[in-house]
Amino acid sequence: MKTNSEQSIGISTRSVHGDERHQNSEGALASPIYGASTFAFDCTDDLIEFVEGRSDRVEYARYGNPNERVVEAKLAALDGAEDAILYSSGMAAVVGVLLSQLSSGDEVIFFDECYHRSREFCIDHLSRYGIVTREVRTGDIAAMEAAINPKTKMLVSESPTNPHLTCVDLEKFAAVGKAHGIETLIDATLATPYNVKPIEYGVDYVLHSATKYFGGHNDLLAGAICGSGERLKPLREFRGYLGSVCSPHSLYLLERGLKTFALRMARHNENGMAVAAFLDNHPRVGRVYYPGIPSHPTHAVASDQMNGFGGLMTFTIKDASGKETSQVVDAVKIPRIAASLGGVESLIEQPLVMSYLHYTPEQRQAVGIDDNMIRLSCGIEDSADLIADLDQALNR
Ligand SMILES: *Cc1c(COP(=O)(O)O)cnc(C)c1O
Repeated sequence: MKTNSEQSIGISTRSVHGDERHQNSEGALASPIYGASTFAFDCTDDLIEFVEGRSDRVEYARYGNPNERVVEAKLAALDGAEDAILYSSGMAAVVGVLLSQLSSGDEVIFFDECYHRSREFCIDHLSRYGIVTREVRTGDIAAMEAAINPKTKMLVSESPTNPHLTCVDLEKFAAVGKAHGIETLIDATLATPYNVKPIEYGVDYVLHSATKYFGGHNDLLAGAICGSGERLKPLREFRGYLGSVCSPHSLYLLERGLKTFALRMARHNENGMAVAAFLDNHPRVGRVYYPGIPSHPTHAVASDQMNGFGGLMTFTIKDASGKETSQVVDAVKIPRIAASLGGVESLIEQPLVMSYLHYTPEQRQAVGIDDNMIRLSCGIEDSADLIADLDQALNR
């Protein structure tokens, strides 16, 4: 994209054109899919030039390919970051950053509401490498600061969190890291840069499951981390060992999905708000966890730092057992029962069954999962249809 005033470029223009530095052969408007595992050099001098870092090209697909470069530049531009690194999934990004930055004896502090696989990786697996995970109550910045000791190397949170949609004050979170010289990471999968850009608040690493809103069509797996070029350099080197790169086909789909990112997000925000307001007023619904409604505990923080609140929400069925809650899920017709979120299709699930069935009731209570909870990811369907469908399911 040729422009003299980078700053004034809007999010829709960025998501369509990104930082498209590659002139595609034959003038192809969509990037060709580079299926090659390796990229040839014309002569030894060319290779030497590359090895000495004097030429900007790709070499071997485990270290990157042209499709990846286009998407990484687009994601960096969207998040207002210097650089972005792609991984084969959001979890590969989580594992990639933690393993690359932490060593035996180090500690990491997490807010306790988080994607269950991230938590399980830290507790069950980082511990095997001598890395200690400390959990503090989500949003309690003072508790996080109090848990810091000389071994602390990283502060980690999601915002909004999954599945309670708690929004963390990013300015305060980043400030604690800066005051103690500790790196900060925000998993902003649920927010996306359409709704908040954690880099602007001083957060060091912004992580995304690109499987969700960035891809947006429930047809690919990818993860990304945005940050400064300096910070992402060791991550990129470590990813070269992990080999957790995206397939060229997924990258093509991701680039295509990103072209409509801003349009989709506007609709997800609109649908999320309309459906949450409907649920909040429905007599069979107990609590609604959606940062856009005034009764949400972090509505004020969310309103201050977000442009919109996304399509994901969690709600409870008043006085319902796990089984009665499943009956509501089963009665819904438009949203499909599936894990994941952020796609054009609405998805619905009961966290008890989808992610926490193997937990004991005590363990579920410890992570705030109630039997009567339902998680709903609003897609881009007509909100009136989603509301009518939920209404018939709730009124049975
Ligand atoms: C889905 C998700 C992940 C994991 O991403 P995958 O692409 O499924 O590996 C991480 N964090 C959050 C908040 C998520 O929703």
